[in-house]
Amino acid sequence: MKNDKKDIRALTKKQLQEFFVSQGDKSFRGTQVYEWLWNKSAHTFEEMTNVSKETREMLKNNFVINHIRVDQMQRSSDGTIKNAVKLHDSLTVESVLIPTPKRTTACVSSQVGCSLDCQFCATAKLKRMRNLNPDEIYDQVVAIDNESRLYFDKPLSNIVFMGMGEPLMNYKNVMKSIEKITSKDGLGMSPKRITVSTSGVPKMIKKLADDEAKIKLAVSLHSAIDEVRTQIMPFNATFPLKDLKEALEYWYSKTKSRITYEYIVWKGINDNEAAARALVDFCKAVPCKVNLIEYNPIDDGHFQQASAQATDMYQNMLERNGITVTVRRSRGKDIDAACGQLANKSA
Ligand code: SAH
Repeated sequence: MKNDKKDIRALTKKQLQEFFVSQGDKSFRGTQVYEWLWNKSAHTFEEMTNVSKETREMLKNNFVINHIRVDQMQRSSDGTIKNAVKLHDSLTVESVLIPTPKRTTACVSSQVGCSLDCQFCATAKLKRMRNLNPDEIYDQVVAIDNESRLYFDKPLSNIVFMGMGEPLMNYKNVMKSIEKITSKDGLGMSPKRITVSTSGVPKMIKKLADDEAKIKLAVSLHSAIDEVRTQIMPFNATFPLKDLKEALEYWYSKTKSRITYEYIVWKGINDNEAAARALVDFCKAVPCKVNLIEYNPIDDGHFQQASAQATDMYQNMLERNGITVTVRRSRGKDIDAACGQLANKSA
């Protein structure tokens, strides 16, 4: 049966209050229902026990709650948890909980599939099906917060938009989800604990700066040489490094917030001194740090992690030039939960 009832969570608190007033009820009822939906994460109207049965029936006749459902949860030997998340239209995305002794980080998806075409990423092999709604992003965070409390005895401390999708290609909904995550009505988390990672969409980076989001920005750079970057991230032909750099300068001038570059060193692609020098040059544009991340093979063997010497060469050159660099080990590889491995295999 086709369901054309409206998703009640698409309404703001004010709209929900107005709806109740239009039904001859009190605006306070709207506040109550809003709290059930957002603070208590109600999946059904039946759960709303301080709302009368008639009101609950009326809501059921008018609305649906398009809540996500964690379909399958996998745990890695290193403690990482991957959730396969079923959406109301049966599509699936994945999100990951990454525990460390000090913090737990949620890695959330922003799209079903991805708009971009990075050659080394498993998600790019899936067609972009649709953008996630703000509440579908928010729900992923709540699910991981609950798991963090349950399995690690502490609330979620950080969020990275590094799951499936390009967050800046779903800008409006990502920003709405962040608003909810940071608001007192939602999780009340500090925006400083949220990192949005982008492959680099210059126009949207500028918009992010203009909107004063107060979040942290990460850029998946992987090469600071246009010809090489276009080969591995073909959209770079449309958004070349010059435009990216200009947008990042704009970002920093507005926010004074240091940028993180994600960078993988691959055999035969960027494991040479000229590539490392280009990265050092690119890093001079704005205050930044570099995460050298481990490559997680996805299939055909075209991309291969470079040797330890090549990574050392990068690390030394960056450090010699006063640039902070961290070499990051992958988490959750055994359950395909590591960077670039999210491809709904568990679904
Ligand atoms: N589209 C955004 C958000 C996805 S983040 C972005 O590109 O930033 C996913 C991160 O994992 C990115 O830094 C991406 O470059 C990296 N990645 C993709 N495939 C990978 C792989 N196979 N191994 C390691 N990292 C990968």
